Amino acid sequence: MAANISQAEVSSVSREKIQSSLKTVLDKISVVSSKRSDVCTTRQPRLVAVSKTKPPEAVLAAYDFGQKHFGENYVMELIEKSNDEEILEKCKDIKWHFIGHLQKNKVNKVIMIPNLYVIETVESEKIAQSLNTTWSKFNKERQLKIMVQVNTSGEENKHGCNPSEVSKVVGFIKEKCPSLEFIGLMTIGSFDHDLSNGPNPDFKKLLECRDKLCEDFGLSREDIEISMGMSNDFEHAIELGSTSVRVGSTIFGARYYPNKTANGPVTTGNGPVKTTENGPEKLADDGTVKTEKNLGIGLETLSVKEKERSDQ
Ligand SMILES: *Cc1c(COP(=O)(O)O)cnc(C)c1O
Repeated sequence: MAANISQAEVSSVSREKIQSSLKTVLDKISVVSSKRSDVCTTRQPRLVAVSKTKPPEAVLAAYDFGQKHFGENYVMELIEKSNDEEILEKCKDIKWHFIGHLQKNKVNKVIMIPNLYVIETVESEKIAQSLNTTWSKFNKERQLKIMVQVNTSGEENKHGCNPSEVSKVVGFIKEKCPSLEFIGLMTIGSFDHDLSNGPNPDFKKLLECRDKLCEDFGLSREDIEISMGMSNDFEHAIELGSTSVRVGSTIFGARYYPNKTANGPVTTGNGPVKTTENGPEKLADDGTVKTEKNLGIGLETLSVKEKERSDQ
């Protein structure tokens, strides 16, 4: 998948770097979670290592260090990586989380992923139904784990269902989708929230949704996972009660998007991203710059700090 140069780089230099960053993140997770008092103290939060844009060698480095859960948010990239020969052979116990926006026309692709653990981004009854039907055709014995993504900030251009619809969507899944297992709620939330203004309201909102579900369906808090927190706010998210954090760049380094037409590759986190009236600009796979609106791939909160590519 990657060019020879980047493979060599990953195997010699980055392998150790990835493993030491992974250790740092795991240590931080265990320190913050040991300090939290009343919220879900029963289990240590799970770390999902987000390997998007990174080569299979990066996944292998983390896996060899004991990491089992990995997250990807582009369907085609996940298909490629999960079917990588070395990963299939050496990472027998790998657990893939799909964390990107899921379009209906990709459902039959995503459910074929080997070692797919959970789809975190179900946002509507329509997509749940489609997953349910497709999954039941191929996997009669076991249910597909899913989380419902919530648009906690209520911005129109963001993915996820409205907080007021969570019970309806979850009810539909529980009653009408016997092939799906609802395991929790997920949000991306604002990544640039200033903590001096108090806890991140997106995170608070997701916890409110969880409590409402407990009431509506007679569930206990432990029955509902909370997937929130990324590189820059996972400790804060854990303090509030996150049970699953999705950390990418802190483990694997800044993301790197090859630019096929312009002067060499573009890295993330370097310099400002030009903002147009349609939102921040992003780099598509064909090297053209597209705006958030016409891309529509669900990376809106990330795009402010980095150029993202499309799913195709
Ligand atoms: C990319 C991504 C992450 C990881 O982001 P980092 O800031 O690199 O940790 C987490 N969640 C989702 C949905 C993502 O797309």
